Amino acid sequence: MADATCPICGRPSLPAQRPFCSLRCADADLGHWLTGRYRVPGPPADEERGELDPEDGLG
Ligand SMILES: [Zn+2]
Repeated sequence: MADATCPICGRPSLPAQRPFCSLRCADADLGHWLTGRYRVPGPPADEERGELDPEDGLG
C-alpha cells in the first residue's frame, strides 16, 4: 500500500488516518459527506399536483 494518498490534499496517507493524511482531512471529507446528504438530487414533488386534487380541502 505505497500508493495510498490522501484524497483531500494528495499527501501520503498515515496508517492511523487512512486513507487520509491527518485528522483534519478526515474531518473535511466527513463534512463533504454530510453536506452532500442535504443536496441529494430528487424529482420535483410539488409541481405536478396542484389542480389535480379538487377535493384538497376534505382531507
Ligand atoms: Zn490530507
